[in-house]
Amino acid sequence: MFLKDKKAAVTGGGRGIGRAISLALASEGADVAILDLDDAGAKETAALVEKTGRSALAFPLDVSRFSEVEVKVNKILDLWGGLDIVVNNAGITRDALLIRMSEKDWDQVLAVNLKGAFNLCRAAGRGMMKQRSGCVINIASIIGLMGNAGQINYAASKGGLIALTKSLAKETAARGIRVNAVAPGFISTEMTEKIPEKIREEMIKAIPLGRMGTPEDVAAAVLFLASPAASYITGQVLVVDGGMRI
Ligand code: NAP
Repeated sequence: MFLKDKKAAVTGGGRGIGRAISLALASEGADVAILDLDDAGAKETAALVEKTGRSALAFPLDVSRFSEVEVKVNKILDLWGGLDIVVNNAGITRDALLIRMSEKDWDQVLAVNLKGAFNLCRAAGRGMMKQRSGCVINIASIIGLMGNAGQINYAASKGGLIALTKSLAKETAARGIRVNAVAPGFISTEMTEKIPEKIREEMIKAIPLGRMGTPEDVAAAVLFLASPAASYITGQVLVVDGGMRI
């Protein structure tokens, strides 16, 4: 139990990758606060965390709202006295080619995927600096490294998140805080469920390991980065894509 009694917050923890991350952190002894737009999903994940014997909190939250994030993080800090691990996982897609992409599609994706991570880091950062320890893990995407037609908003948000990761790692390392990113490839969740079967088959053909990833594949990488085994690793992007980007 290498995370025994550590306190973690996971955004978008109500389903998919965020739920798997919450359960993986709990399996190593962490208490987990689940923050999600979907309150029912957050509560379901919290109940699953509690089944492992750990404490859980569930709060409805839109990560793109600066003040709301501050209020919810302060609530967690009041209840738990601190946060050791912050996972910025909440993310959305609003895909369209440039000429069809609305201003709203651009703004929403940047607001959730990039500003959302800033909001949480800003709210939790002061406490981590005071305690002179902490671990931030940002869930980026291989699209942030390689780009993708039809996803300029998503690629920009995830590329920005990687840049935020590296800059914040430099800024906070002297205070004992590590900041890393995980870049998943093609993972089986509700986000990828809507992709038409034919395109899905083509995408799987491009994965050397021959299958889509699972939320648990991503959670395992997060668990490693949160663990003492990664205590000399900061500012890095760990790609979890079955070799798709080789
Ligand atoms: P998902 O199944 O769509 O789950 C995302 C969760 O985040 C949902 O519970 C959603 O709530 C919540 N959420 C959305 N907007 C939010 C907001 N503004 N504030 C708080 N919570 C919000 O997605 P996923 O596939 O697990 O993806 C998780 C992360 O991994 C994302 O950052 C995604 O970009 C990244 N990723 C995924 C893949 C993949 O192939 N699946 C690949 C690379 C990277 P609602 O249900 O209310 O919308």
